[in-house]
Amino acid sequence: MALKTAKEYIDSLRNLKLNVYLMGEKVENPVDHPIIRPSLNSVAMTYELAQNPEYEDLMTATSTLTGKKINRFTHLHNSTEDLVKKVKMQRLVGQKTASCFQRCVGLDAFNAVYSTTFEIDEKYGTNYHDRFVEYLKYVQEEDLTVDGAMTDPKGDRGLSPSQQADPDLFLHIVERREDGIVVRGAKAHQTGMVNSHEVLVMPTQTMREEDKDYAVCFAVPTDAEGITIIYGRQSCDTRKLEEGKLDVGNPKFGGHEALVIFDNVFVPNERIFMCGEYDFSGILVERFAGYHRQSYGGCKVGVGDVLIGAAALIADYNGVPKASHIKDKIIEMVHLNETLYSCGIACSCEGHKTKAGNYEIDMLLANVCKQNVTRFPYEIARLAEDIAGGIFVTMPSEKDLKHPEIGKYVEKYLKGVASVPTINRMKVLRFIENMTLGTAAVGYRTESLHGAGSPQAQRIMISRQSNLERKKQLVKDILDIED
Ligand code: SF4
Ligand code: FE
Repeated sequence: MALKTAKEYIDSLRNLKLNVYLMGEKVENPVDHPIIRPSLNSVAMTYELAQNPEYEDLMTATSTLTGKKINRFTHLHNSTEDLVKKVKMQRLVGQKTASCFQRCVGLDAFNAVYSTTFEIDEKYGTNYHDRFVEYLKYVQEEDLTVDGAMTDPKGDRGLSPSQQADPDLFLHIVERREDGIVVRGAKAHQTGMVNSHEVLVMPTQTMREEDKDYAVCFAVPTDAEGITIIYGRQSCDTRKLEEGKLDVGNPKFGGHEALVIFDNVFVPNERIFMCGEYDFSGILVERFAGYHRQSYGGCKVGVGDVLIGAAALIADYNGVPKASHIKDKIIEMVHLNETLYSCGIACSCEGHKTKAGNYEIDMLLANVCKQNVTRFPYEIARLAEDIAGGIFVTMPSEKDLKHPEIGKYVEKYLKGVASVPTINRMKVLRFIENMTLGTAAVGYRTESLHGAGSPQAQRIMISRQSNLERKKQLVKDILDIED
């Protein structure tokens, strides 16, 4: 089986014995949990669209490892065209879900680990790359969702991993055995962990020799012994527990993050892809982050498309689609959104082949892409809120709308254009609320800021890649200045 259907994917999750906690309670059946399910539906969309002939070119690829047809979310980019298609695929899935569909963290990890393990082996004569290739063949064949896990809790940010008062604040090797290693620590903000079959762990930052036990990369099933998943709360999440669906905003789709604990988890040798080679830690981080910064030029743009659509729709329902300032605000939203897309496409077109043979984005442009993402979605969201009017946060609930006595008032006074049913207007207003302030705002706003690295992380990379000396030389050449 190289392509799972959405149903097969969902059934396969039922076989996992995940150790998940949500709001202080153990979740026995995460697949059908009302708070978790919308996020699962978003991942399922990556399977569903791959079955649709209309999207075959974007959603599937030919494996460079086996020659078989696979889901693009498990693919090693084989050209700059592949990098472009990745961004287009992410925009598409963002448009279909209006949320984070979670599966890209694995894709970005595959491509970063693939090239990095090749270079570690080249320097140290290790065999991580072959191990990883075998692992990825398994992932492709089974069409798995893999959670790329990078961010450690980090404790005192002024101290290195080995200097922390509590050594577990960065995930590390606690025991080396003949048949593998034992690791302890945690990974924070893990996107899609509950909807993933496997977790691919990478180090979180550049490491020095004294931190070499922290320079570790490996993969284990998400239900491996010793893993505990603590589901993150999102704004307005308990609305999903209510009877009706209107107040949820986006009742079908969502995203999730979790704090994942690794309490003495055993990793067999064949699943270890870095084990102490601290000098490659920073390289792996840079590559994973680079790919994920490219990703945001696709996924956030797709979600932005839906938010722009919601703003235009509510303008129609409010009876003001022709007002010049409304039209101008929508133009501005489109301009900002397409600027993000341009960066995602540009860093892909300017990509290059790695020593291992897969393709990597242009790092400077990928970081510029993500730096823009830390800003533009906020402005797009602000404009959507502006167009919606304050009612999107002051509106009565679905229960009021359906109430036998007061329902008629809600129906009457929340009416916009006479021909549009009140409930449709309320749906769009709640949807805008969801995307700007509710559960989807985690993915569209805060994740735009902090996901794939906070703004300062990109500024460091931009500074490193900016080649100021060359720019100064350009001036000297024109002005005939010789030092
Ligand atoms: Fe994919 Fe975007 Fe979610 Fe990252 S934030 S996993 S790129 S959808
Ligand atoms: Fe993300």
